[in-house]
Formats: sequence, structure tokens, C-alpha cells
Amino acid sequence: MDSKKETQERRKKRIAVIPGDGIGQEVIPQAVKVIQASGADVQLTDFDWGADRYLRDQVTVPPDGFAMLGRDFDAILVGAFGDPRVKTNIHAKEILLGMRFKMDLYANVRPVRLLDAALCPLKGVEPKDVDFVVLRENTEGVYTDAGGVFKQGTPDEIATQEDINTRKGVERIIRYAFQYCERHTKLDGSPRNKVLMCDKSNAMTHAGGLWQRVLKEVSGENPQITAQHMYVDALCMQMVRDPRQFDVIVTNNMFGDIITDLAAGLQGGLGMAASGNIHPGKTSMFEPVHGSAPPIAGKNMANPFGAILTAAMMLAHLGMTKESEQIEAAVLEAVRQKKTTQDISGKLGTREAAEWVATQVSGS
Ligand code: ATP
Repeated sequence: MDSKKETQERRKKRIAVIPGDGIGQEVIPQAVKVIQASGADVQLTDFDWGADRYLRDQVTVPPDGFAMLGRDFDAILVGAFGDPRVKTNIHAKEILLGMRFKMDLYANVRPVRLLDAALCPLKGVEPKDVDFVVLRENTEGVYTDAGGVFKQGTPDEIATQEDINTRKGVERIIRYAFQYCERHTKLDGSPRNKVLMCDKSNAMTHAGGLWQRVLKEVSGENPQITAQHMYVDALCMQMVRDPRQFDVIVTNNMFGDIITDLAAGLQGGLGMAASGNIHPGKTSMFEPVHGSAPPIAGKNMANPFGAILTAAMMLAHLGMTKESEQIEAAVLEAVRQKKTTQDISGKLGTREAAEWVATQVSGS
């Protein structure tokens, strides 16, 4: 290869594509189709990690799998994991939590945006009223599986699930929230300038105390940004009562998992929500918020827009702002014209809704 061609090839962003299980296998190929329609200069490589492979040859993650992803790719596009045939869900745990933990993707970024008022179950809420982001700590908390069971299966059984909060882990996600404000604006162009930390420090005093102290310290270094606090139970109520008040929410792994399903409800449901699992400077992973949804898998019913918006988020992360904005605009137009799947009141199938978006993107 001559050196000019080699440099061009090197500039091409390399993306690992892992559709996974259930509707992941339907929505990710559609998201890929839309990426290709955008003309983004990327090189896509497919991986078959998931339940089928696990059931066939007992491999969840091939040896060196995470190191290979970090070394050979700029980003990873993932579908979903979970299959009723794998009762233990071991493959999902090893692949998805493995990627988050072992690749140290500590910031789970979940934008919450309402594209059209018709999608929101709340009365009188307009797109401008729902435009916030949830930053979920992604490598610690109760999801590390620290703890154990004792005297299992007896009346004296004991089960513990430890909530792990390290100074390093808490500090980096809180700092990420303040940096996020510096680097991102709202959809209307106004600045992001409020960080709200959500916890349950009135009941979980040890972990909550650490989060509270770190918030105070980091906000002291960033006086231009307003730091706020809310207990997670109050936050759930406020999110439904008045979503306008939120800007950047930062929280732990479990609360982030729960409140982003609630937040997805404001956007039109799980089929509309996108996310990124990010470690600045390292290979990051992007996945729709929804799971593998076995009841609707294989029926061409799944909403592909969460996956397509996830692809747009990934392209923006890789510096392809124009392609990302084209894709977001096309999804917005599809929603406005009801070229959507049934879950958001349209009549199209997964493939047809994505095809409509791809056609818009290639014509833009
Ligand atoms: P996980 O724990 O893996 O996140 P989950 O138990 O939260 O999964 P999902 O698999 O996300 O659940 O789906 C729950 C239900 O939401 C599905 O059965 C389906 O009805 C609906 N749903 C999820 N994603 C979509 C989608 N893309 N399009 C339409 N409906 C969806």
C-alpha cells in the first residue's frame, strides 16, 4: 500500500459491530444501514458475540476479546444481550458488564430528548421541555456483584450485595458531569450549566457521604456551574411532574439504570433512547438503552430509532458531526411524519422505518 493510501486508511474510523441477541440482531443492522447511507468514512467489522455463539461453543468473550476491541477499534456499536435459552444470563453479564468494567467505560451517557410532543405521555410537554442528560457511573455500585450467599436454600439463608463506591470512581464521574457542561449545549444552543447529583444519602449514609463530599469539592472548583442535589425518590416524582428543571443529572450505577427507564418514558419509550459508555481517550461503546426484548424479537416490530440515534451519538463522538446531525434530523422527520413502528403509533416495521430514515439521510 502506498503511504498516502495507508494514511487515508488509518484515518478511517474503525467500528466493531456486535448486534448480540433478540431485537439487537434486528435494530443494529438497520443502524449500520443508516451509517452507510450517511457516507460516514468508517470501516465496520461484525462480531457474533451473544447467546447463539455461547450455546454453540460455550464462548462468551473470546480470549483477548476486550484487549482486541481496545487496540483495534475506535468505537463499538452494540445491540442487546439476553436470551431465554440462557437462564443464567452469563453471556450477557460477561460481554456487556465485562466491556463496561474491563474496558473501564466509566461514564454511561444517556441523553433524554423529546423529539415530538406526541411521544410524551405528559400533558402539555413540548420538545423544548425535555432536554437533559443522565450520567450514570458505570463501573461500580451494586453491579460489581461483590457479596455472597450463605446457608443458601435454608430458612437461615443470608444474601449480601455490596455497594462499592471508590473515591476515584465517584470523583471521575462527578468531574465528567462538570466537563460535560463545558463541552455540550442544549438543543436550542443555550449553555448547560446545572449539575444535579441524585442519591439516597439520607438512608445510605456511608456511600452518600462520599458522593456529597466529592460534589462539594468539585463544584467549588467550578463556580460557574450550579450544583444541586436531589434524593432519588424525589427525583422520580419531579421527572414526571416537571422535566423542564433538569439539565445534567449525575448518579450511581443502579439509580442511573432505573431513572433512565423512567426518562425513556418521557421520550416515547425504550425504543427511542440512546446511550454511550465512555472513557475519554479510550475505545468507547455505544448501545441503545433497551434490552433484547424477547417477546417482540424476530417479528420486525422493534423500534430501530434508539439504535439509529445511538449510531448518531457514536459518529458525533468520533468527530463526524455532520453525519450525526443528518441522521438525527432524519429521525426527527420520521417521527413528525409518523414513519415509525407501532410502539410510537406508526404502522411501519423495523426495516421499513429504518429504510425511510436511510433514504432521507442519503438524500440530504
Ligand atoms: P434489560 O434488562 O436487558 O435492559 P429489560 O428487561 O429492561 O431488558 P427490554 O428488553 O428493554 O427489557 O424490553 C422491555 C419491553 O419494552 C419489551 O418487551 C418491549 O415491549 C419494549 N421494548 C423495548 N425495546 C423496544 C424497541 N426497540 N421497540 C419496541 N418496543 C421495545
